[in-house]
Amino acid sequence: MTGIPLRIAIIGAGPAGLTLARILHLNGIAATVFEREAHALVRPQGGTLDLHVDSGQLALRRAGLEKEFLRIARYEDQGSRLYDKDGRLVLADDDDSGDRPEVDRSALRDILLASLPEGSVQWGRELREVHARPDGAYDLAFGADLLGPFDLVVGADGAWSRVRPLVSRYRPQYTGLTFIEFGIDDVDASHPELSKLVGRGKIGAEGDGRGMIVQRNANAHLRGYAIFRVPADWAERTFDFASPAAARARLMAEFEGWAPELVALIAASNDNIVARAIHALPIGHHWPNRVGVTLLGDAAHVMSPFGGEGVNAAMLDAAELARHLVEAGDWRQAVKLYEQEMFERVVEPATHAAEAAATELSHIGLELTLEHVRQHAQMRAVAG
Ligand SMILES: Cc1cc2nc3c(=O)[nH]c(=O)nc-3n(C[C@H](O)[C@H](O)[C@H](O)COP(=O)(O)OP(=O)(O)OC[C@H]3O[C@@H](n4cnc5c(N)ncnc54)[C@H](O)[C@@H]3O)c2cc1C
Repeated sequence: MTGIPLRIAIIGAGPAGLTLARILHLNGIAATVFEREAHALVRPQGGTLDLHVDSGQLALRRAGLEKEFLRIARYEDQGSRLYDKDGRLVLADDDDSGDRPEVDRSALRDILLASLPEGSVQWGRELREVHARPDGAYDLAFGADLLGPFDLVVGADGAWSRVRPLVSRYRPQYTGLTFIEFGIDDVDASHPELSKLVGRGKIGAEGDGRGMIVQRNANAHLRGYAIFRVPADWAERTFDFASPAAARARLMAEFEGWAPELVALIAASNDNIVARAIHALPIGHHWPNRVGVTLLGDAAHVMSPFGGEGVNAAMLDAAELARHLVEAGDWRQAVKLYEQEMFERVVEPATHAAEAAATELSHIGLELTLEHVRQHAQMRAVAG
């Protein structure tokens, strides 16, 4: 990299923002990450993610965190089972020899944070707006504070990015699917029958226009998603989330007629029950290059979580933007190149995620989901 040292601001300490900061740091380029959460432990960082060799894992290799990754990777939790609503097993893959191990999101955040120099992340900084200065640089508005100037502002601030409006008029659209998320603690000791049902990995179940995905996380924790095709405001109209007992009972009622062992997963859930309306940006979302502003990860291409590509695409974006910034003679060109390649690269995973979301809970029940799962497995086998 040539020219004056860049003043880089990364908005968001998610997987994309932290991976970018780490790889830049390894290459002697400083960046400041601004995160709205008050500190690293402010909320559990969500469920388990499978990291793919040529994207999520590649990014961690470039970040010099291979050893740390192997310490948190759960190769033994790669199994996958699909049930119908009567509890009949329709597809099972209990093979743990794959190369897409699971990692807990908080464990991933921890290893990335530990790899950054003290003070690289400014916590409790919620970006409100980005102001363009007459000299071409940018100031950032956080509450009453205006910080800057920065030459390059990287929006790694997720689906509802405050940086995105500077380059794009698009906002994520509701996919028609709502997840109600629930968790089961200490499953091996407290609910051995449910532990056995889920096995080492995840299960899916579908029928009567409803679905359920339950994934094994680290520390004998299960995270579940009940899936509905409903209007965007259905969950808030239907559930009293202030009363977990009432929300749990309402959720169980939605699965009346399902196999008791599947409904038992909801009955055993803890009090952390939340709704997640699934949104996505259009496939092929792109924008004309604007000097000094770019987007990474969900801010650039949030997609439905089916297919498990989101975090992998986000971390690969970070690795590629860092590579271009390190290798290029001109950082403006580096960003342009990153964007051109990213726009193309993301079309395939975004298409896959959109197809999977469209076939989930279809009018012919499990048939389309099964077809989709098989096709995807075949594609992966062909790709090696
Ligand atoms: C229910 C669900 C399940 C999922 N399951 C999977 C899965 O199994 N596999 C997979 O690959 N992907 C999955 N995803 C998608 C995955 O979570 C995302 O693709 C991934 O987290 C994107 O990383 P990111 O760093 O771009 O954004 P995020 O992880 O969203 O991080 C953005 C960060 O920016 C911060 N931020 C936001 N706004 C501001 C602001 N204004 N100022 C400062 N900071 C801000 C946030 O607090 C956050 O820390 C799932 C998503 C959902 C909703």
